[in-house]
Amino acid sequence: VTVLGLESSCDDTAAAVVRGTSGKARILSSVVHGQDALHAGYGGVVPEIAARAHAEKLDLCVMRALAEAGVTLGDLDAVAVTAGPGLIGGVLAGVMCAKGICAATGLPLIGVNHLAGHALTPRLTDEVAWPYLVLLVSGGHCQFLIARGHDDFTRLGGTIDDAPGEAFDKVARLLGLPQPGGPAVESEARKGDPARFAFPRPLLDRPGCDLSFSGLKTALLRQRDLIVREKGGITRQDRADLCAGFQQAVADVLAEKSRRALAHYTALAPAAPIMAVAGGVAANGVIRAALKEACAGAGVEFLAPPLALCTDNAAMIAYAGIERHLAGAHDDMTLSARPRWPLDGRAPPMLGSGR
Ligand code: ATP
Ligand code: FE
Repeated sequence: VTVLGLESSCDDTAAAVVRGTSGKARILSSVVHGQDALHAGYGGVVPEIAARAHAEKLDLCVMRALAEAGVTLGDLDAVAVTAGPGLIGGVLAGVMCAKGICAATGLPLIGVNHLAGHALTPRLTDEVAWPYLVLLVSGGHCQFLIARGHDDFTRLGGTIDDAPGEAFDKVARLLGLPQPGGPAVESEARKGDPARFAFPRPLLDRPGCDLSFSGLKTALLRQRDLIVREKGGITRQDRADLCAGFQQAVADVLAEKSRRALAHYTALAPAAPIMAVAGGVAANGVIRAALKEACAGAGVEFLAPPLALCTDNAAMIAYAGIERHLAGAHDDMTLSARPRWPLDGRAPPMLGSGR
């Protein structure tokens, strides 16, 4: 089947066409239109500006995605759209656009959970069988999920405050580095000594897979202010050492919690055990290496999809749409946009995720 996917839950307007079946699909096109320049002067994503830009750019993205895929609306079997969680104005813009296309063409409408899109990406990029373990680490989310089916996820734990990407972004802001903070902090950290400053390893003393990152950001702020008070300012080396220490702490915590999640997962005795990462923070080399090592220790294959599919995109939404379409899970015109939508229906709404 061939599905058009739409994504507009944060600051990327995206449309994609994916063709195939459950577990075996091909991306025909994937258009992502970022909004970094629009939000650059505000130190974060401004929901109002994001929603307006999505509404303006969605049509164009859809037309480009169809053209690049070499298909017309008549070649499609369904339209899938992110229906949450995310910034409500943007999600609404996507849902309205998808409804418009479906109303005009009679195509089935499929609402997709953005997190399910991320969590199903390994099945789009590789042949991965259920159940597999996913670590979703992005600017807005951090959680361990066992994926047992396209609509069957078990959440093992997640952040109780900031998402790691959010922490990287805040750290960059504290140190005068550009946004998005992740790549900037990583590149500074390469020149730094991770052992010079002491950073905590939050929640390691507690059992389970929950994580916390806001304390790391506060620790960095304290160290920075201490240096400023002693020396009147921070040098490039101070900055690099702070970045390296912070990044190492994030990597260590993610690796240790991964070991615990892996223990839960391997207890299910999966035939071909796999842990996959999703989300923009998976781009980080030090974090990736730490996760890989944790997997190796548990005898589980580590899978990191290409970066363009780790960050927000519509191919993952189209693919999730294929899985739902084949399962007969369609929506109608009453589909609504949801700002919060936990994947397993049981998890409490995440704290401090507002950016
Ligand atoms: P969502 O949570 O809905 O996916 P998002 O758009 O913020 O929202 P992504 O696009 O997946 O998430 O990822 C962006 C985040 O990843 C940013 O917070 C960014 O700082 C972080 N990031 C990107 N590259 C790196 C890196 N090399 N190291 C650490 N963090 C990174
Ligand atoms: Fe995302």
